[in-house]
Amino acid sequence: MVLPSVRLLQWLRDAHALEEQAVTLNSWAARRIEEYPELSARMEQHLGETERQRERLEQCIERHNGGTSAIKDVVAKLSAVGPMLSGLVVGDEVVKVGLALYTFKHLEIGSYRILIAAAEEAGDHETRRACQECLREELAMAQWLEENLEPLTNAYLAREAA
Ligand code: MG
Repeated sequence: MVLPSVRLLQWLRDAHALEEQAVTLNSWAARRIEEYPELSARMEQHLGETERQRERLEQCIERHNGGTSAIKDVVAKLSAVGPMLSGLVVGDEVVKVGLALYTFKHLEIGSYRILIAAAEEAGDHETRRACQECLREELAMAQWLEENLEPLTNAYLAREAA
């Protein structure tokens, strides 16, 4: 038998590891999109959100565990972003950044939806609220990408053809 609260803690740690990777992805990407000010600005804004999301998750984990030691072991799991980044070729980085972000945001959206359901099941209203807040930010970022991936690709192709 596994209690919902045990799964909830496990998934909180997974989500925390994802947010760690999101910070890595952000700082990696920021250096490659300087010529695209709108994407840069939106990513800058989202980096602040990402850092707050990480803090929110840490608070949820600490409430369950009574300590931060549980957080340390997940930081090593920086695996999801690696394959996306290693396939990069010089030139079309901004398009790859857009694709990596779009993919990553949906991973996070799924993760927060799962956490919201698990927190509900475990009767942890504070975690549920924290994850709903994170979900709203991820949906907003995904929506922005939804609207901007095509114009971004067009801008890149125009620049390359010029
Ligand atoms: Mg996030």
